Amino acid sequence: MTHIIILMGPPGAGKGSVAQKLSAEKKLPHISTGSLLREEIAKGSELGEKVESIMQSGQLVDDATVIALLKERISQDDCKNGFILDGFPRTPPQAEALELMFHEMRKSDPLVLYIQVNEETVVKRISGRKECSGCGKIYHDSTMPPKKQGVCDDCEKPLIQRHDDIESVVRERFSVYQQKTAPLIAHYEQKGLLRSVNGNPMLPEVMDQVFKVLEQF
Ligand code: ADP
Ligand code: ZN
Repeated sequence: MTHIIILMGPPGAGKGSVAQKLSAEKKLPHISTGSLLREEIAKGSELGEKVESIMQSGQLVDDATVIALLKERISQDDCKNGFILDGFPRTPPQAEALELMFHEMRKSDPLVLYIQVNEETVVKRISGRKECSGCGKIYHDSTMPPKKQGVCDDCEKPLIQRHDDIESVVRERFSVYQQKTAPLIAHYEQKGLLRSVNGNPMLPEVMDQVFKVLEQF
């Protein structure tokens, strides 16, 4: 049984929410390149400054930058038994670089979970999405509200809306996904590593499917 899980799907498919649940259940770190980049912006690092406007416009950060960031993260000690990738790889060169890293680190093949959703689901989800400014936990105004309005259940920090979650930027992210990331689906399918789940229902139903797929893999 493999312990590396890659989550694929368009923005708003629920990759982050599924990753959060899987991470708790399987005791594996949840690695989101989007969150790693947002941390750099929050810290005000040189890297953060470089990527801020790119992310706000819905474009992808360049491959070399994201690959270096990811490589550094998965070589840390907590990743030695496996990890869950959310938002990486997003381009064919990133997928190639990842395969090379796995080879060098003597890792087995990953399981690639493709979360399929239709466009209306995405628009609805993203417009109500909120994220904890402290720990990054994801909420939704109507479907996953916090216990106390506006603050995180876990760390009590305020919930915020991401700068790239406004409708025009969401559309741009969607078209970038279709152009650059969607071709990876066929790539992983050919390698026999892809499993699909229907991401349109509410999270508990999606998780039931995810756990079934994991049992069978
Ligand atoms: P979503 O999956 O909802 O689009 P993420 O948090 O995964 O949100 O990503 C937010 C932004 O971070 C992306 O639009 C992009 O600018 C940048 N980003 C994240 N991961 C990558 C990646 N692997 N390659 C390039 N850019 C990335
Ligand atoms: Zn929190």
